[in-house]
Amino acid sequence: MSVKTRFAPSPTGYLHVGGARTALYSWLHAKANNGQFVLRIEDTDLERSTPEAVEAILDGMKWLNLDWNEGPYYQTKRFDRYKEVINQLVEQGKAYPCFCSRERLDDLREEQMANKEKPRYDGKCRHLAKEDIDLTKDHVIRFKNPKDGSVTFRDVVKGEITISNSELDDLIIARTDGSPTYNFTVVIDDMDMQITQVIRGDDHINNTPRQINIFKALDAPIPDYGHVPMILGDDGKKLSKRHGAVSVMQYRDDGYLPQAVLNYLVRLGWSHGDQEIFSIDEMIELFDVNDINKAPSAFNTQKLNWLNQQYLKTLPVSEILPHLQWHLEKAGISLEGGPDIGELIPEFAERAQTLKELVESIRPYYSEFEEFEAKAAKKHLRGVAKEPLVLVKEKLSALTEWSPEALNNAINATAEQLEIGMGKVGMPLRVAVTGIGMSPSLDLTLKWVGKDRALSRINKALEFIAEREQAQN
Ligand code: GLU
Repeated sequence: MSVKTRFAPSPTGYLHVGGARTALYSWLHAKANNGQFVLRIEDTDLERSTPEAVEAILDGMKWLNLDWNEGPYYQTKRFDRYKEVINQLVEQGKAYPCFCSRERLDDLREEQMANKEKPRYDGKCRHLAKEDIDLTKDHVIRFKNPKDGSVTFRDVVKGEITISNSELDDLIIARTDGSPTYNFTVVIDDMDMQITQVIRGDDHINNTPRQINIFKALDAPIPDYGHVPMILGDDGKKLSKRHGAVSVMQYRDDGYLPQAVLNYLVRLGWSHGDQEIFSIDEMIELFDVNDINKAPSAFNTQKLNWLNQQYLKTLPVSEILPHLQWHLEKAGISLEGGPDIGELIPEFAERAQTLKELVESIRPYYSEFEEFEAKAAKKHLRGVAKEPLVLVKEKLSALTEWSPEALNNAINATAEQLEIGMGKVGMPLRVAVTGIGMSPSLDLTLKWVGKDRALSRINKALEFIAEREQAQN
């Protein structure tokens, strides 16, 4: 049978990194086996599911470029189907209506707890006589879990797991209002969608034996299971908002590339030797569910930052550009009329870990700045800088060619003529034309700023110096 995996999020919030990693592993397993990947929205919890959360999940999946072959399916659209199977199970005597009141169940629970027993349904309604069944009365439907024997499955991550049926009770599969419950809908969907491998968080591992029993009752093929350990924060506690961003889209907002996030997530719980960087094609080629780590992994933002920078440095500009554009727009910067961004990215990626930082460092080449950065201005835009700035401006404005070579010559000639060191020309000039104290080599900086902008900014710097001198007198 060909491989078919699924990602089945409940839309109760954003797509968090744990979910995204589960989605990635399922997606990779499908791709690695020429299989299919299904997206299913488990929205039966009407109180907690929201359309915004569905959108957020879809946005996250699209941003990560985790495409699906089927879906998104919505469980709320499949209620008729669930009802059909519930009726079938009741007819076959594999499920039954239960009329036990909340009070009875509460009392039962208390009694069991007092006797130090595991709280479980005692099966009172399992064998009701026909005349005692009045379906007009409030009732739930329970699945008849086998009383004897045990359930064994081989989890690809955790190994073989056996649970005795005596540990499991008769699970409610339909509530009083007729709505189906999670453990039931998952099975019907995995069966109908012909899922062959279920990869999900290990918070679901206790559900698996119950689900397997339902598969058996339906005579349906049981998928393979892989339960992935949770992600911890860098303090060893369960990853939560306290640790910073946990929503995938927050990573976009913070300036990460989806390629870097995917690379980061794939390594968070899986490894291939000591290789750290994996293109998507390599992930597909090398990923193997059997190599998923048994132990939980801890989130490490520094490593994500490092990876992001590696991708900024090495990805073709065409792959970075769409993501950079998003940040440029947010920052109100247009590339139009400015230097070729393809030249700037490799240069600035040396110093930027995120797209947000990259945008800030390229800002002076595409848009005007209001003020010189205070610290840089205080240090470099002083009275002594006046003469070099005036002279270099003169030489720059006389240039007919705005090439790195010509620019370097103009700066060197200024330093020579005034018999001062290069830095005495270079630093004020750098602050003048960029507004900040840091930029690549001056010839490139000037080239990218452009002649008109450079000259007018030098004027602005001279004005700044004049004002400063006036204020001091
Ligand atoms: N809807 C469940 C969740 O979001 C996942 C169920 C499953 O993968 O089987 O936790």
